[in-house]
Parts: sequence; C-alpha cells; structure tokens
Amino acid sequence: MPSSLQDQLIKKEELFGAQNYAPLAVVLEKGEGAYLWDVDGNKYLDMVSAYSAVSHGHSHPELVKIIQKQASKLAITSRAFYTEPFGDFLEKLTNVSGFENVLTMNTGAEAVETAIKAARRWGYKTKGIKEDAAEIIVADGNFHGRTTTIVGFSSEESYKDGFGPFGKGFVEAKYCWSECDLETSIKSFESKINKNTCAVLVEPIQGEAGIRVPEEGWLKKLRELCSKNNVLLILDEIQSGLGRTGKLFAYDHENIKPDGLILGKALGGAMLPISAFLSSKEVMDHFNAGSHGSTFGGNPLATKVACRAIELLYEDDLIENSAKLGEYFKSKLKAIDNKIIKDVRGKGLWIGVELEKSKVNAKNLCLMLLNEGLLCKETHKTVIRFAPPLMITKNELDWAIQKITKVIRSI
Ligand SMILES: *Cc1c(COP(=O)(O)O)cnc(C)c1O
Repeated sequence: MPSSLQDQLIKKEELFGAQNYAPLAVVLEKGEGAYLWDVDGNKYLDMVSAYSAVSHGHSHPELVKIIQKQASKLAITSRAFYTEPFGDFLEKLTNVSGFENVLTMNTGAEAVETAIKAARRWGYKTKGIKEDAAEIIVADGNFHGRTTTIVGFSSEESYKDGFGPFGKGFVEAKYCWSECDLETSIKSFESKINKNTCAVLVEPIQGEAGIRVPEEGWLKKLRELCSKNNVLLILDEIQSGLGRTGKLFAYDHENIKPDGLILGKALGGAMLPISAFLSSKEVMDHFNAGSHGSTFGGNPLATKVACRAIELLYEDDLIENSAKLGEYFKSKLKAIDNKIIKDVRGKGLWIGVELEKSKVNAKNLCLMLLNEGLLCKETHKTVIRFAPPLMITKNELDWAIQKITKVIRSI
C-alpha cells in the first residue's frame, strides 16, 4: 500500500501531468545497481530496467563520476562546433560495431526517423527510385517509437487513434511469429518488394509486442532477400542491442550484418538519452550539411558518458552475464511449470512470460510481485517482461526467481 507521502506525489502527477502512462503505484527516489528505493525507503529489485535502458545498473559509480566531471566542464554546445568527446565516441562506436559512420540523436524515435530519411535518400539518389515513390517495408506488431510518422505504420490501434493523417510510403509484411512460419513471413516480405522499395525496417526480436522471438534462420533469410533485391536491411536494436540478448547485437545470433542499425536506450549508460543511426558511407554520405540535425544530438555530456558506457559493456562483462544468466533465468522460469503460464521465451536477460488470458491478468501479477519487492511491467495485458539490469548477480536473480515462483504458485 502506498504511504501518504507516495499518495500525495501520485496525486500531484495525476493532477498536473498528462495521463499518457499508467504507472504502478510506487514513487521511486533512488537507484543503485539492480535496486530501486521508493520515497519511504522500501527496496525493490528492478526487473524493467527502463525498458532495457539500464543495462549498466542504476548510478554506475564510474559513469556518475564521468557525468559530474563533464557537466562541470562542458555539457551542451550544439553541432555548430566540434567538441572534445565527440570524435572518440564515434571512433569507439564504429570500432565495436563495424559500421563506417554514425549519426547521433537523442531518443530512439529520432534515430528511427533518421534511418527512414537515410533509406529514402539512398533510395532516390543511389537506387534511382522515382521522386516521392520510395517505400519501406515494416512488420506487423512493430514498435519503433511515437512520432506521427512512426505510429502511422504501427499495427497497434491505440498508438494511432486520433493522431492521423499519417504519411505514406510504408507497407506492412508479416513478422515471423505465432501462426506465421519462417517461409510464410519471408514470402510476405518478398511479395511487398517492388522497384520503389528502399528498405526493410524490423526489430530482430519484437520487444513491446511481447518479446516475440522469430524462428531461427529468419533474419538470415530476410538478409538474403534484401541483398537479392537491392533493398537496405535496417534493424531497430534500440531495445535488443548492446548486450541485452546475450550478444552485442541480436543479429549476431544469426551471423548477419544489416545495412543500417538503430541504437538507443542502454547507449546512454542509464544516465541520459542518446541514440544513433549507424550505416555505411554509401548510405550516410547522402546526409550533407543542413539536411538533418538535432540541437542536443551528439552533445559532449552524452557522448562522453556513452563512450565509456560502450567500454563497460565489456569490462563489466555485461554481454557475457546477459547470455549466462539469461539462459539460467529462462530455465528456472520454465521449471515453474504452472497452468497459468502459456509460454516462456526470450534471449539473454530479456524474457517474456506469457500468461493464460483466462486465468490471470498480467497487471495484477505485477502488483503481487511489487508487494514482494520486484518491479515488473506487463505488456499487452498477457505478457510479463523480465529485463533486469545486465549487471545483476546470480544471487540477486535467485532471490527474484524465488519470489516469482512463490507468487505464481499462490494463484
Ligand atoms: C524504445 C524503443 C523505441 C523508441 O525509443 P524512444 O527513446 O522511446 O523514442 C524504438 N524502437 C524500439 C525497438 C524500442 O524498444
């Protein structure tokens, strides 16, 4: 039960804020590692990680020092000037990813917009598509952010309702999921390709849709299809990237390389927003001065933090930990073996537990877990997503598993 202080703060948010979220009734004040505390000092284990933005843990001591130091030195300049941290950040990100060029923005949605612009320019100026005819193929169930362009090609009615009219140039194909097997999905993409197609834009695993993991080999087939048809394959790894699935990028599980990559969330080291679109010079060279930009994009504060955050993925063993503990966590969740659980799926420390719709409501289960000291979030009413910070220890995870098991068996 929230205390009167929490009640007061919740009421204030409800009174003065737009109601575009439905938060769980807990008011957080402090974070450290995998833990969060509310304003009354109650401690919780974070199983949401700000939708996978908190891979390094809350208030990573070294990143805190870096952000403090940089903030007191130089934080914001705009890209009207060169800045001391920017080049090192670009070099680091291109080195670890193997892409030639990076364009930095702030939020994920902005980096997706950047990818769309890049793909279209490449389509007109390299591929030779007729003016204003470029098409991008997306998947059903996609989530790429909340701008009007992006929600315009979402298949989720609640994201679009009342926000039209929407832009043209997007067509939907079938993601490899549920009823749609690998061959059917690839055929669906193939059937949408025509001379105006500049790109295929997909998530290698759909996070917001409920951790939908496509059949093995799907991404490889999609890669082949795009190459064969001179279409760019652009992957949105804003949530799946930077170790979340147990590899640096989710596409590393299939040994392919996309033509464009979108990163965000964990790139900021759980400190601040920074996002990026990565691609080849062939694609990126279509951006010239004045064609695209962002006041805060690539600012010294964010790039200083992000540069170190990338190194810490390796030095803190975050990717390894995600792979190892992710497998362990999944096996333990499967072992609960209860009739309310329909499916357990995911890769790395990114696991969805789908519940039997008729037996329990996912939001209620999150409330029960909250009472046990676990912060969790449902998606699409029937799936609970477990995505702890990648620095979580086996002991902390064992504690969580024990609580989850207890709550599910009590239903
Ligand atoms: C979170 C997310 C986005 C949007 O990022 P914002 O920073 O919220 O704009 C886009 N794509 C995917 C796959 C995401 O998970």
